[in-house]
Amino acid sequence: MNEPRLQADLALHRPELRGYVHEPAYAGVLSFMRRRYTRELAGADVVVTGIPLDIATTFRPGARLGPAAMRAASVQLNEKLHPWGFGPCEHLSVIDYGDCAIDHHRPSTVVDSIVAHARPIVQSGATMLSLGGDHFVTYPLLKAHAEKHGPLAIVHFDAHCDTWPDDAPESLNHGTMFYKAVKDGLIDPTRSVQVGIRTWNDDFMGIEVLGADWVHEHGPKAVAERIRQIVGQHPAYLTFDIDCLDPAYAPGTGTPVPGGLTSAQAQQILRGLVPLKIVGMDVVEVAPAYDHAEITALAAAHMAAEMLCVLAAQRR
Ligand code: MN
Ligand code: MN
Repeated sequence: MNEPRLQADLALHRPELRGYVHEPAYAGVLSFMRRRYTRELAGADVVVTGIPLDIATTFRPGARLGPAAMRAASVQLNEKLHPWGFGPCEHLSVIDYGDCAIDHHRPSTVVDSIVAHARPIVQSGATMLSLGGDHFVTYPLLKAHAEKHGPLAIVHFDAHCDTWPDDAPESLNHGTMFYKAVKDGLIDPTRSVQVGIRTWNDDFMGIEVLGADWVHEHGPKAVAERIRQIVGQHPAYLTFDIDCLDPAYAPGTGTPVPGGLTSAQAQQILRGLVPLKIVGMDVVEVAPAYDHAEITALAAAHMAAEMLCVLAAQRR
């Protein structure tokens, strides 16, 4: 039976997890890339989920609205993508799992809530693509992933290293969680790399930094090559803080820093990561209230789509 050429509300009525059916970009229930909204994990290769936390920010809040903005921006990605020549959902069964329930009024519950949300997804064997939320969400997400994979290589795109010292166990801080994650043994710093950094810290916790200046001097292909050398085939967690991009490309974020990557540079670097063994991914720090013309949400949705294409290219 031929599928209808045009459908509405694919998030609810998608006939198959894989493949593409056209839905008007301006209408319908929003799910990430028009994937089926479901908590049924059986058969899913990739699980997209929102982690709408924003009480760990040091400057402008608002990233709790990031997942909704990225879903809205992803409506234009329900098709084959350039320059890949395929759509990731031709080769991967991708679902939208909805959002993690977070009680912002009880901060002490946040870490456990996110770990409990992530654990069944990670343990199912699916690859998790999380949409933040401020960058602190990566700390509980790393906990859930390290339970399965052990200490992870991180490939970390950011203006900030997020390894500033913090020995308070209860703190929720989007600038210190990788300090904690190294100390907790969730990250193997010798296999990890940070890209696009342009803020100073006296101690990067043993993680190699490819600063924004290094990216601009050497170019995206050299950056991808260096990442591949550092990470090798170690299980890798890919975390993309949207403020890695210059504020010209991503104004809608909590702590913007000039001098960053262009969208094109970041896309080219991501496309060079196909050889990696990626076990988890996130895109964080989209704060729509500071955005203009949805520039930031669009860039974030495209970065997430590039990550899915990397996975798809590994499996096709
Ligand atoms: Mn960050
Ligand atoms: Mn940042």
